[in-house]
This record gives sequence, structure tokens and C-alpha cells, in this order.
Amino acid sequence: MTNDSLAAEPDLNDSIYDLVVIGGGINGVGIARDAAGRGLRVLLVEKGDFAGATSSASSKLIHGGLRYLEYYEFRLVREALAERERLLAIAPHIAWPMSFVMPHIAGLRPRWMIRTGLFLYDRLGGRISLAKSKAVTLTNTLLGKPLKALFSQGFTYSDAWVDDARLVVLNALSAQQHGAQLLPRVSFEQAKRVGHFWHIEVKPTEIHPSPEQIPTHIRARMLVNASGPWVESVRARIELNDSILDEGILESNIKTQKQAGLGQLRLVQGSHMVVAQCYEGNHAYILQHTDRRVIFMLPYEHDYTLIGTTDLPLTDPNQQPTMTDAEVEYLCDAVNQYLEHPVKPQDVIWRYSGVRPLMDQGDTDNPSAVSRDYELKIEALNEVVPLLTVLGGKLTTYRKLAEHALDDLSDFCIDLPKGWTDQEVLPGGDIPDGWHGFEAWQTQFIAQYPDLDSEWLASITRRYGTLIPQVLSSLKSQSAPFGVSDLGLHFGGGLYECEVRYLRQNEWAWQAEDILWRRTKCGLHMTVDERISFEKWFKQHNL
Ligand SMILES: Cc1cc2nc3c(=O)[nH]c(=O)nc-3n(C[C@H](O)[C@H](O)[C@H](O)COP(=O)(O)OP(=O)(O)OC[C@H]3O[C@@H](n4cnc5c(N)ncnc54)[C@H](O)[C@@H]3O)c2cc1C
Repeated sequence: MTNDSLAAEPDLNDSIYDLVVIGGGINGVGIARDAAGRGLRVLLVEKGDFAGATSSASSKLIHGGLRYLEYYEFRLVREALAERERLLAIAPHIAWPMSFVMPHIAGLRPRWMIRTGLFLYDRLGGRISLAKSKAVTLTNTLLGKPLKALFSQGFTYSDAWVDDARLVVLNALSAQQHGAQLLPRVSFEQAKRVGHFWHIEVKPTEIHPSPEQIPTHIRARMLVNASGPWVESVRARIELNDSILDEGILESNIKTQKQAGLGQLRLVQGSHMVVAQCYEGNHAYILQHTDRRVIFMLPYEHDYTLIGTTDLPLTDPNQQPTMTDAEVEYLCDAVNQYLEHPVKPQDVIWRYSGVRPLMDQGDTDNPSAVSRDYELKIEALNEVVPLLTVLGGKLTTYRKLAEHALDDLSDFCIDLPKGWTDQEVLPGGDIPDGWHGFEAWQTQFIAQYPDLDSEWLASITRRYGTLIPQVLSSLKSQSAPFGVSDLGLHFGGGLYECEVRYLRQNEWAWQAEDILWRRTKCGLHMTVDERISFEKWFKQHNL
């Protein structure tokens, strides 16, 4: 998406869309993709960057959620486990299986309870390709090596890992390939039902490279509010009232309307911290804390360990979530019960926080116990011009959530085709034999570029899969030999000019931070000075 390609788009002001989606997190882009693939004319607005909010701040697990079984969330766990297999199949480049180790700790959950949970976890949701859970000895093994000697026994089970921010952008790319119009850095302002259409007012933000191309008023037959933590404040700017029946331009002074029909949303901050790798191996740990919460320790970006997460109640979605020192202490305390070599607050290299938009059913004060399931609310007057609101949800269930959303909206469409997103891989994911075949494909791919650093090639295969030739050729045509000088400037941390150009031109990366922290995690591998230099360079070059 270059400035030129934006300019070449049809005049959006004249368009009537079947569906407008508010929010470019995982749920919004998932719905836009599904809808566009079913033949609907779709527009999505995102006020920031894709995955700029909760969807890049997760633990990055595609999981059923073992702990949710304790809260009897069987529907959610079953659906999430089935989705685990599907997401591995449609995104084999950015998602892979991960083995989890749970050391047994006397005095917390008894063995029989863990065995029962794992028995259910193995059987509830169509585990096809992942390894079964089992009891393991930790003493004198790689799995037990980082742990204190008292942890001699434990359990292992399988889940999966995904690059959350890339999952969002690949869904956005796929939606675009299916004909959706995607407008990041454009905020939804307000909407009103007028006759048979939503009249919607949007506004480009300062960061948008060509604001003059963005319409201010759009008409649509259906509206989806997938604004995550902002779902209530966005809903308050949507007027369902059908009092004006002529189809004049929306007046900008429409009063905000008290939201109707939404349950209470509970905002819960969750934080993660990154430290230098504190154990060897590709497995993860799930550690029981004394407060009965579980903490994950995950291998991250080769050289690091990711530790999370916390549950901190929040009230204002506009309050920038920031990890507190108390959260750092809490996570250190939790993992240090287990680790032979303790992690200290001063070891933290990077930290991030996100806000879970959870459905509050008013049945618990404990933020960890609030359901992680989702709900879709349809509000429509006289059975037409629906508003669908997404409440709650998990990264893992986004595809199914989108499918349910479209199925619900099919009541308002004529002959809407059935769901299709479980069949088509995401861009770059057409790896022979899927995730099983990834390593063989990667080895073969790396062998084609003997003059390039194989570790760097390995990391970009994980970002782009079969799209890599496009990334490499953004500076030079794809003819051999291909040397490091063909990659352009190196900004540090494995970030080269060719990748930056590719991201700027194809993945809506308009700010340095979009590239450093979401499209890639190169920011983590760079020094502060390298990041500052890159930011300056990026600002000066209109790629
Ligand atoms: C700490 C933490 C750990 C988690 N770990 C996992 C995990 O391991 N696995 C898992 O499956 N799930 C996990 N989750 C849950 C998962 O991340 C969320 O459920 C999911 O990302 C929510 O996506 P969303 O699209 O609903 O919201 P968001 O990603 O927040 O997207 C909403 C978007 O709407 C946009 N928006 C808001 N207002 C407007 C407006 N006026 N105009 C235009 N756009 C607007 C925002 O900018 C935002 O980008 C975790 C969540 C947290 C916080």
C-alpha cells in the first residue's frame, strides 16, 4: 500500500459498503477477511496501527487455556483447542507447536487434579497432530536444568505459539487480497442509522500519509464494532435511533447516546517482561504461583525469555497500559520460586502491557476468574441495518469468532456464502506439508542464498514464509548471485533496508515503531542508539 496505490483507489465517498468494521485488532481484521472472502464489500477503519493495542500485547499462545477448565469453561476450551489445529494449518510460518512443562509443587494443585485437567485437555478439542500430555521426571534432564533441585517431577502437554502482531497484519493482507478496503490511522468518529444505511463519520489521524484521500462520510448496510477495550466508548457514539428517515449527510453534532444493550466490560491489564534467555530449549514452563494464578515462561526471539502475565483492573481504556514495578516484582517472585538462578527486576530488558476487554458477568471480584469467552451482540431495528458488537475473545478464537459474526450477519444478507477461512492459508503460509514441513522448506530456502547469513534468513522465513522473495526483491531483482550488499542499509538487529521498504510499501508500516515492535521484533535486538538512528532515517525517507 504505497501513497500511489492509495491515490489509485476509487473515490470512497461515492461508495456504499455492505460492511464497515471498526477496529484493526485481531477480531476486526478476522471479520473483515471472512466477510470480504464471502463476497461482501468491506471497509475497515483502525485509529492506530494494525495490532497497535491488545492484539500485539498478548502471551502469543494459541491455546485452549488449561486453567480455564478450573472455571468450567468447556465451550471456550473445546473451541480454542480445535482452533489451535486450524491456526497451525493456516499459518505454519508464524505459528508452531510448543511443549509446556508444569513442575509439580507440593501444597498447590494435587497431582490427581492436574492429571484430570490434562486428560480432558488432550481429549476435548480434536487434538490431531500435537503430542499428548504425560508425567515426566525433571531431575537430571534438560527440562529440569533451570529449576531448583526440589522440582523432581512434573507434567508436559502441548499448545502452540504465534506471532500475534503478524497474525493480525496477515489477516489484513488477506482481507485486502479478497477486496476489502483497509484504512489504518483512520478513526471512527460516529454513526447513525438513517433509513436503510449506516451513515458513518471517520477521520484520518495526523500520521496518515495521505489524509486528503480519506472520505469523511461513508455509508454501509452493516456495522461491526470490534474496538476491543474501546467497545463501550465507540458504542456510545453509535445512534441506533431511526428517527430521521431521509438520507441526508450525517450531521456532525449528533449527540452521543447512552449505550444500550451491552453488558458491562471489564478491563484488565496484563503485563509481560523480557529477560536474557534463562534456560535452554524450545519448551515453555507453566508455573503455579502461590495465589493459584499460573505464570508462563516462554522462549522468545532466540536470545530471550518472555515472562507473563499479570491481572490488574483498569477503568479507562485511554489510559496507556504500562507495566508497574509491582508487576515486575510479582513476576520475579513467581518464577523465582522455581528457578535455580533468580531473575531480578534489573534484568528486565523490555516490558509491555495490554488491556484485556473481558465480559463482566458480575459473578467474581477476581480478575483472573473473569471469563475469557466472547459474545456477539446484534442490535437492529425492524430487522435491518444491524450493528454487531464484539465483546471479549481471545487471539486463539478470532477465526471462529469471525465465522460466527458473519453467520449472525447472514440473516441480514441475501444468500451469503458459508465460512471458508479454515481452508485458505494466510499470505506466505503455503509451505509444503504445513508446519510439519516448515523446517525442511526453510533449510531448502536458506540453501538458495549461500552468501546471506543463514540465521538472518531463518528469522525472516518465520516472518514472511513464502513471501520472502518479495521482501528480498524490494531493492534488487531476484537474480542470483544475491549478496548482503543487495539487502541495502543495515540498521542493526537484523533489520535491513529491503525489509523496511517491503513493509512500508506492502504492510502499512508508516511509523518506525510499527516496524521495530510489530511487523518485526528487531527493536529488541537493536541498541538504543540504533533505534534512534533508524527512527531518524525512517522519518527522512519517504519510501
Ligand atoms: C496480557 C494479555 C495476554 C494475552 N494472551 C493471550 C494468549 O496468549 N492467547 C490468546 O489467545 N489471547 C490472549 N490474550 C487475549 C487477546 O490478546 C485479545 O483477546 C485480543 O487481542 C483482542 O483483540 P481485539 O481485536 O478484540 O482488540 P484490540 O487488539 O485491542 O483491537 C481493537 C482495535 O480497535 C481500535 N479502535 C478503538 N477505537 C477506535 C476508533 N474509534 N476508530 C478506529 N479504531 C478504533 C484500536 O486502536 C484497536 O487497535 C491476551 C491478552 C492480554 C492483554
